[in-house]
Amino acid sequence: MLAVMIHVGIGYDVHRLVEGRKLFLGGVEIPHSKGLEGHSDADVLIHALCDALFGAMGMGDIGTFFPNTDARWTNASSITFLHEAVRILQLHSGRVVNVDTTLIAQEPKLTPHMRTMKHKLSEALEIHPERVAIKATTNEGLGFIGRGEGIAAMAVASVDLPR
Ligand code: MG
Repeated sequence: MLAVMIHVGIGYDVHRLVEGRKLFLGGVEIPHSKGLEGHSDADVLIHALCDALFGAMGMGDIGTFFPNTDARWTNASSITFLHEAVRILQLHSGRVVNVDTTLIAQEPKLTPHMRTMKHKLSEALEIHPERVAIKATTNEGLGFIGRGEGIAAMAVASVDLPR
């Protein structure tokens, strides 16, 4: 039987919603009048997920690996970051066990896009879609998220590492 050592990591991210940008969440372009502002495509869900993976590996955070001062990442698709995080995990002989995430957005409605996001993320994480959870909640109209000024995401990742 294989030895299993489970490590857990947490991630959080927030980006501002602005006009003139496309909205990317979970690696999927979502039709909306605004998009998230950032150096890359500002996919807040993937950023939180990368931080959870790096956290589980006991490494830095997404900014350590993909600094926003690096022109290579200007308007980069964040799915690249996720692929890279998984590659680093595999270099350490690890694998993802499961991830659980929550998007906090007042708008747009995210339910119609959940399935596509789930499949996109499971592909990048190299795990079954049933091991990828994406939940969405509004902020009940409260605060900056409630006013539609930004979108936040939280993520937890569990990985199996042989150390
Ligand atoms: Mg970010």
